[in-house]
Amino acid sequence: MNVNCTGCQKDFDITLKEKKHGKGIIETYFVCPHCSTRFSAAFTNTRSRKIQKQIRKLWDEIRGCGNVKLAEHKKEKIDKLTEENKQIMSKLKEEYASK
Ligand SMILES: [Zn+2]
Repeated sequence: MNVNCTGCQKDFDITLKEKKHGKGIIETYFVCPHCSTRFSAAFTNTRSRKIQKQIRKLWDEIRGCGNVKLAEHKKEKIDKLTEENKQIMSKLKEEYASK
């Protein structure tokens, strides 16, 4: 994935790295190879990684499921989990982005 650096305006290819913040919190980030500006991609904790796994599993189940009603029900679950995960990740970002 190619992005344009907001620091030096040059394009670069993203290489995701991980940093552990303790308490199960992992920051995914990447660094501009030209000017070393650091960009946070996401913060996750144990709960949000569990949610991501659940969402992937639900999508798999929907794909293999011929029942429209059941698929809709699962889709609702996915929406709820996605919303919860969004909140967790934005809270973590607020708390850890500057560290
Ligand atoms: Zn740069």
